[in-house]
Amino acid sequence: MPDLIQEPARQTPVIHETDVLVVGSGPGGLSAALAAARCGVEVTLLERFGCFGGNITVVGVEGFAWYRHEQTVEAGGIGREFEDRAKAMGAATPESQSLSYELDSEGFKLVADRLVEEAGIHPMLHRQFVAPITDGNTITGVIVESKAGREAILAKRVIDATGDADVAHRMGAATHKTPMENVQAASVMFHIAGVDKTAFMAGVKASPQTYADWSSGEWQVETSGKEDDMFSPFLGKPFEQAIRDGLIPAHLNTIGGTWGAVHDSGEMTYMNLVHLAGVDGVDPDSLTRFEIEGRRQAMLAIDALRAYTPGCEAARLRNFGMSIGIRDSRKIDAVYNMTENDVRHEGRFEDSIGIYPEFIDGYGILILPTTGRYMHVPYRSMLPKGVRNLLVAGRATGGDMVAHAATRNMACCTVSGQGAGVAAALSVKHGRELDAVNISDVQSELKSQGVRIA
Ligand SMILES: Cc1cc2nc3c(=O)[nH]c(=O)nc-3n(C[C@H](O)[C@H](O)[C@H](O)COP(=O)(O)OP(=O)(O)OC[C@H]3O[C@@H](n4cnc5c(N)ncnc54)[C@H](O)[C@@H]3O)c2cc1C
Repeated sequence: MPDLIQEPARQTPVIHETDVLVVGSGPGGLSAALAAARCGVEVTLLERFGCFGGNITVVGVEGFAWYRHEQTVEAGGIGREFEDRAKAMGAATPESQSLSYELDSEGFKLVADRLVEEAGIHPMLHRQFVAPITDGNTITGVIVESKAGREAILAKRVIDATGDADVAHRMGAATHKTPMENVQAASVMFHIAGVDKTAFMAGVKASPQTYADWSSGEWQVETSGKEDDMFSPFLGKPFEQAIRDGLIPAHLNTIGGTWGAVHDSGEMTYMNLVHLAGVDGVDPDSLTRFEIEGRRQAMLAIDALRAYTPGCEAARLRNFGMSIGIRDSRKIDAVYNMTENDVRHEGRFEDSIGIYPEFIDGYGILILPTTGRYMHVPYRSMLPKGVRNLLVAGRATGGDMVAHAATRNMACCTVSGQGAGVAAALSVKHGRELDAVNISDVQSELKSQGVRIA
């Protein structure tokens, strides 16, 4: 087999032109598109799958603000709107461990459709970004591929909200990945049906779990101490028992984690129980292997729930997420890369585009914002070095490992998304480069959109 083949040069039809193009529609991209559209520019939202919402709808991640407690101070803005709107549309249920609502991953597809439609955003589903269109180091549009073949979309500004920094990477901007030995586990998420809610909740009450229980099996989790006695919807014991009884092989002591919502209808959703180490989220061979392995482990988890968890005796698989869930892949080298110190010690920045409570979850750390402490999210962490007309929002913004344990969270992705959307829109409107936008104009617009900046 030859190492390489030569593809012929080709002409690609331009199918669409827009002011701001947002690539990827997760919490980051959806917020970016809404925020930009509300500034009065033309916005296009591009998504490779058939629904907007990213990990919420594609993977089934429903715990949007499970960190929220009485003292929690946060940005508001579009993140809060997601929750409120989902609640109003019957697509959210009270969350068990916090003062928040858990999103319904299916219902949120409709919430996102409605928000996109109301904002006048041009929707483009089922098209995958494959390459940037460039003029030197300036991005002027993107090439997409779909059932319609290869097509071009032109844009004045592009926001990369792919989660994996696909656009920045293909532009040649510097990106980095966490070393494989530290990379956060990936998960195949699933929902089950056939649960007896009353019996399940009685079992939870009889054997309440706390965040201290997260330090069991394969993991040791650092907390600040104040989390240790707080209730967590954690499931560990059924899987420990299953290992003892030989139902689950001993090396799979990574099975365990949290349940999301249990419904009167007998559905239990957002089952975050399968944790797969060593997944490379931007390598399709790795993704293929672990999708299959993750489904296998999910079925073992369901067997253990049926055997050892009150109320789950008749449980069965309802569905898997549409895709394996990736927590950790490429991040950009930004003009400012956030640090562990910023997220642990209330970082303050003059170019703040929003705040985020002191919620650090990942890489073996769990700190909950129970005290009112919060950090600023700086605009410069979304500006990739060395390329023009491009911002990166969501979980691929610039920062070190512990910084990402905070910024990767969905509500923080809505903060960076809303900031990026407003900055891109004002940059078009005022004819200024993205690295020369007037930050106080961006902050004023964000405030008028309901975001807390300082
Ligand atoms: C299993 C799991 C559990 C988690 N639990 C929580 C939790 O409880 N609370 C919390 O706050 N966070 C949680 N997270 C983290 C959170 O879900 C993500 O960090 C967050 O969704 C990232 O948002 P985003 O907008 O950057 O990217 P994503 O949500 O990943 O969205 C990216 C979007 O871009 C699209 N896309 C990607 N590439 C292309 C392309 N080339 N062309 C077109 N479209 C593209 C994708 O299809 C997707 O829709 C969890 C993550 C996982 C995987």
